[in-house]
Amino acid sequence: MKALILEELIWPELKQVLPEIELAVVPVGACEQHGPNTTFNTDTARAYGFSKMIGERFGSQVLVCPPVPYGISVHHMAFPGTVTLRCETYINLLTDIAVALSKHGIRRIVFLNGHGGNSGSLSAVINILKYEHGIDAYYSGIGLNLFEEGITPEMGWSENLGHASESETAQAMVLCPEVVRAERKKGEVVEGFIIRGKEAPFRYGGCAWNWKEDASANGALGDARLANVDDGARLNQIALEKVEHMIRHIIEKR
Ligand SMILES: [Zn+2]
Repeated sequence: MKALILEELIWPELKQVLPEIELAVVPVGACEQHGPNTTFNTDTARAYGFSKMIGERFGSQVLVCPPVPYGISVHHMAFPGTVTLRCETYINLLTDIAVALSKHGIRRIVFLNGHGGNSGSLSAVINILKYEHGIDAYYSGIGLNLFEEGITPEMGWSENLGHASESETAQAMVLCPEVVRAERKKGEVVEGFIIRGKEAPFRYGGCAWNWKEDASANGALGDARLANVDDGARLNQIALEKVEHMIRHIIEKR
């Protein structure tokens, strides 16, 4: 099916299809350093590319909105070029987008999130929308957490996956290859930094990182040189299935 993409329409076209729209997807990203491997808009471009693929699975039932290119990137501010919003700005921004869409009769919103740093604020947003505005709102990640079951030991990938590593870069090769640099570098991960698995000290909670000091001197985790488009396509497919399942549930059961 052809995805219904807001920024490609004129208003009479949107008006005509409006009765068929079950919900709007709003991709949310970041303007954030991704080490020497991928560009500042990586999370935004991944979220938008992913949202368009979701849109293809639902046609006129799902309106794919333009992506939000800034997010919560306070922890990456030590790297020049990163732009963060304050949490209250971000929460207000996303709330305004959802309220505006609701004025046109679209009362269900799904934020598809390309950047882990946004998660806490997204949780606040969906509660504000639901309980202060009566708008059904949801959010989901699109990356590693959804597809990690597809990563096998034979792939030889790093323990510290995630930001600007092979897992994210492989998915970007599928969703937005223009953000990926041909020459990539291994992450200069800070000694003792563990973000995943049983040994991760903040596994069950949170930590306000200073990414450069606490996590990685060059801004990347893992080893993005190991990324390839075949693994990216396979893993991305796993993530798509999960988000499709969630959206079908919202449309049919809620
Ligand atoms: Zn990222």
